[in-house]
Amino acid sequence: TELSKIRNFSIIAHIDHGKSTLADRLIQRTGGLSEREMSSQVLDNMDIEKERGITIKAQTVRLDWKGHVLNLMDTPGHVDFAYEVSRSLAACEGALLVVDAAQGVEAQTLANVYQSIEHDHEIIPVINKIDLPSAEPEKVRHEIEEIIGIDASNAVLASAKSGIGIEEILDAIVERIPAPKGDADAPLKAMLVDSWYDSYLGVVILVRVIDGTIKKGQQIKFMAAGTTHLIDRVGAFRPKIEQLPDLGPGEIGFITAQIKEVAQARVGDTLTDAKRPTPHALPGFKEVQPVVFCGLFPVDAADFEKLRESISRLRLNDASFSFEMETSAALGFGFRCGFLGLLHLEIIQERLTREYDLDLITTAPSVVYKIKLTHNNGEIELHNPADMPDPTKIEEIEEPWIQAVIYVPDEYLGSILKLCQERRGIQKNLTYVGGRAQVTYELPLNEVVFDFYDRLKSLSKGYASFDYEQIGHRAGDLVKMGILVNEEPVDALSMIVHRATAEVRGRGMVERLKELIPRHLFKIPIQAAIGGKVIARETISAMRKDVTAKCYGGDATRKRKLLEKQKKGKAKMREYGSVSIPQEAFIAALRMG
Ligand code: GDP
Ligand code: MG
Repeated sequence: TELSKIRNFSIIAHIDHGKSTLADRLIQRTGGLSEREMSSQVLDNMDIEKERGITIKAQTVRLDWKGHVLNLMDTPGHVDFAYEVSRSLAACEGALLVVDAAQGVEAQTLANVYQSIEHDHEIIPVINKIDLPSAEPEKVRHEIEEIIGIDASNAVLASAKSGIGIEEILDAIVERIPAPKGDADAPLKAMLVDSWYDSYLGVVILVRVIDGTIKKGQQIKFMAAGTTHLIDRVGAFRPKIEQLPDLGPGEIGFITAQIKEVAQARVGDTLTDAKRPTPHALPGFKEVQPVVFCGLFPVDAADFEKLRESISRLRLNDASFSFEMETSAALGFGFRCGFLGLLHLEIIQERLTREYDLDLITTAPSVVYKIKLTHNNGEIELHNPADMPDPTKIEEIEEPWIQAVIYVPDEYLGSILKLCQERRGIQKNLTYVGGRAQVTYELPLNEVVFDFYDRLKSLSKGYASFDYEQIGHRAGDLVKMGILVNEEPVDALSMIVHRATAEVRGRGMVERLKELIPRHLFKIPIQAAIGGKVIARETISAMRKDVTAKCYGGDATRKRKLLEKQKKGKAKMREYGSVSIPQEAFIAALRMG
């Protein structure tokens, strides 16, 4: 395709403002799918994505409109996948900014729109859901100008649901978004935007060609990975797969090259011709590393092999997730796994539970600590609190820090500052952008991985947005806090904490466990301790009544059902000494109040 006929764009929207519905409409209007095929939303194709309303893997669709080729790039919607978002945006020249006409501009829009502005994108505001009686398009137009600071006088008024404004949006993309630039005669230079495993095609690689041409039968080199591969397919999604002879400058499409694992096709890598390579790789390649680690153990020890197989299969499709075998005194055989963040952890855990039908116990998430040993015995990287050396052997512990940028409306600023302060944050900057506060904080990652994002959202009623980058390790007064249930240490719940926040964390943990562990026939003490010193304690009082007592004798089937339910519940419990801890308790206990 001729450069002047290509438009590459993404859609930026807060959750539920209508991104998926609009994408479906654009596909439908340009003839990619029939009415019948449109029945379910096309771009969000994983159950978990649908339920959570977030996009995890970027997808792209090629649309034909009035002699032009429009490439719609979907982007992941969560901070854990920030690097993938930045690469998707780098592959586009413009964006549709979708804002709900009844809700107005919301937080998640902001972080992405600022990134888009940084990439010099042409931004087309789309005010969606104008069919709603509560729609206030003029107010929202004003908000876009006020808060985001872009011209919204030519915003498109639309209803993705009733199909209003769809053609106008397509025309605006052609008229306002600039065509990509590139040199067809230069050596091939293409960006690897995304990769995923397809059971039929193998590893599929989404590319944006910058210069040159990529074609079937070509030997290409992955510049960061240093590997070469023979291309066996080139094509585009409409959204159905269409094979093409080649992709030229400015084009977005996919290739396959008999690659077995996505780990060999890293997002951000530069692809070039093996025989005629480009001298300069694209800037910005980053090897994403797991930052949060936790143990995953089967509730039923007999499921270990099944867990191994399931984890290996998931890993085929997700290079950012890592795993290695782990044994725990209390939990037996399992795996220590690494993730990009807490959401990533939850997604993997949910897929294992749902798609592979496994009951799992998740241990406390931990970041990676660097420990300097005494007597010049070197330095170790600690991924698991259980491996913490004896305190006498530790010279110094360093923990990872991040720099976080938070956007928040004025009215919630106070509670957000308080939250950052509680989490040992160091304020670096506070400014106002379009009527909102922009706060920069340095924070220990350890204080962020548990629930910072959730707290931020709830304190700001969903309006605050948050973005972060790692800024290296720093020494800290860190200690291992153990949890004892009925005097027995539960290694899955031990965690590394800062001495200053240990008591608060310990108290929160024992209080939650008190709620989560069912009563037994005897009294159960629950303690948090550092070394031999107890810092928090609760007691679960002994149970008196039989669980069936509340059935008042009568109904026998009801009584049986209750007993069955109780038995089933037992299967999902772990015995600690003589105490049963339900599976949910492990995860729930780790959420801060
Ligand atoms: P996303 O999270 O941005 O992908 O949003 P969705 O496309 O999933 O839409 C969220 C909800 O808003 C769904 O229930 C849609 O049916 C609804 N929705 C989307 N566009 C419109 C619209 O133009 N008008 C109305 N009334 N509802 C819409
Ligand atoms: Mg969606």
